[in-house]
Amino acid sequence: MIKERQRILIVEDEQAIMLGLEENLKAAGYEVIKASNGPQALKQGLEGRPDLVLLDLMLPGMSGYEVCRILRERGMQMPIIMLTARQDEFDKLHGFELGADDYVTKPFSIKELLARIRAVLQRGRSLTQGPRRYEFGDCILDLDARVLTKKGQAVTLTRTEFDLLAYFCQNEGKALSRDQVMNDVWGTQYFGTQRSLDSFVASLRAKIEDKPSSPRHILTVRGVGYKFVRE
Ligand code: CA
Repeated sequence: MIKERQRILIVEDEQAIMLGLEENLKAAGYEVIKASNGPQALKQGLEGRPDLVLLDLMLPGMSGYEVCRILRERGMQMPIIMLTARQDEFDKLHGFELGADDYVTKPFSIKELLARIRAVLQRGRSLTQGPRRYEFGDCILDLDARVLTKKGQAVTLTRTEFDLLAYFCQNEGKALSRDQVMNDVWGTQYFGTQRSLDSFVASLRAKIEDKPSSPRHILTVRGVGYKFVRE
């Protein structure tokens, strides 16, 4: 089967980093489109049909956060990997809240970045099997429409939150270790920390649970990880 090459939008204002990324991604078989400021990034993200976006955060014209937020607001579902120079927790959580799928901290190794790109592009493929619709509490999750409703109202989930919830539904009643969840949802090449998983779970709980502090659906299994139950 001949597979169309996957297209990556690189958003980066530092010329040297842009050139290095472009060269390496092309060598790895990807098609590359580029933007070096916020408005260009938005235009390419909305019109350039990228399969994935590598998004620098400190950009002229508009921050990467803002670009990410607007792309998601306009319904763009492609994976977004943030390139961040700063390491503090606030940035990561803020990035995930805005709909980023992963991040790498500069300076990064190209090998690690390529592994993350592959992992993020592979995610969600396991969602093509099994039931297409799950009901729990007041919620209905529709995998084909990629829509979650709670009490009949649509709930906005980031791509990662959606994939994670779908995975929990498909593994109802099983105690799942954090490693297992991260491998299955993020792919075996994921380098993230267990704390990022916990932060995704926290934001999912805030969206689906009546009382996120005493959850009824996404339960913590002490010393193991999580277990999803419908009731
Ligand atoms: Ca920059």
